[in-house]
Amino acid sequence: MPRPIQATIHPEALRHNLERARQAAPDARLWAVVKANAYGHGIERVFDAMRATDGFALLELSEAERIRQLGWRGPILLLEGVFDARDLELCSRLGVWHSVHCDQQIDWLAAHKTQQPHRVFLKMNSGMNRLGFTPERFRSAYARLNALTQVEEISFITHFSDADGPRGIEHQLQAFLGATQDLPGERSVCNSAATLLHGMEARVRNDWVRPGIVLYGSAPDYPLHTAADWGLRPAMTLSTQVIGVQQLQAGDSVGYGSTFVADAPMRTGIIACGYADGYPRHCGTGTPVLVNGVRTRVLGRVSMDMLNVDLTPVPDAGIGSDVTLWGTARNGTQLSIDEVAAAAGTVGYELMCAVAPRVPVVVE
Ligand code: PLP
Repeated sequence: MPRPIQATIHPEALRHNLERARQAAPDARLWAVVKANAYGHGIERVFDAMRATDGFALLELSEAERIRQLGWRGPILLLEGVFDARDLELCSRLGVWHSVHCDQQIDWLAAHKTQQPHRVFLKMNSGMNRLGFTPERFRSAYARLNALTQVEEISFITHFSDADGPRGIEHQLQAFLGATQDLPGERSVCNSAATLLHGMEARVRNDWVRPGIVLYGSAPDYPLHTAADWGLRPAMTLSTQVIGVQQLQAGDSVGYGSTFVADAPMRTGIIACGYADGYPRHCGTGTPVLVNGVRTRVLGRVSMDMLNVDLTPVPDAGIGSDVTLWGTARNGTQLSIDEVAAAAGTVGYELMCAVAPRVPVVVE
């Protein structure tokens, strides 16, 4: 038998979350963001459940090819555009819309000989200071693109740096709307946080929203809100089993570095999941975990292939008992990936993207 660890993808949850994102931004079209192999869930595994989207947004042309191979004929958007002039040919062939964020990409387009004109999203750096033209340079970039016969349609895109945080979106939104005012073309600004928090406002949702993390059932603004607060369902469960049990006496320690020391007799379970499976090593003592659907905690340091959990709240647990690292236990109890991520000082995005290739994945 294989080692008893598994990630399970829940298509019903994906469908539900997509619908939830739609409700949050009525009348907008939706780019389902499936970059990073659908945030670690697997493009092929999520595709069917996400067919109700208007388009798929991603990062790599190889991901676009995979989506076309699955039979998707609708829009696909390359969020960062092409990384090399030679990629424009494949963009044309696949009919992929692509972002244009720098002069070099416009030069490549100008030199590209194509029968099939390009559809592009001109990207503004409205304050994130990652990719894009500043508001001051935006209109001249637009004029250059607009003069190219290789380009048949220009839309506009920007990305918020703090949609769920104290700086908010207003300064970036104003910069974007100001600089694109009176330019003909569709607009897209909202990631998950902006979609949930501001999608009911037409001036924010614009023509297209681009939710990613909500589709996978994680709250973009945790701990302000939980996924359950937003009505989202976990799209992935990481589960394993108890493979060993120890009876500790007062003073006994657990794991490398002896960071947890029992102050009274207690039972611990050793479970088949470690940092080589993608479970964060920073999830130390106290990180929540479910055993037989009952909430308990990690003890001591996470090892490469296993970790210890406190069996005190589950006295009937033993070898073979079910363990849920995040997601939904067999009895329906949920453990949010955001809560586990917070215990490691990170975000749900990182955990779902980091599930290791050695973990078998099944679609429910
Ligand atoms: N749009 C762009 C340009 C992005 O880079 C991302 C992700 O980082 C998204 C949309 C989706 O963001 P989120 O997963 O927070 O919804």
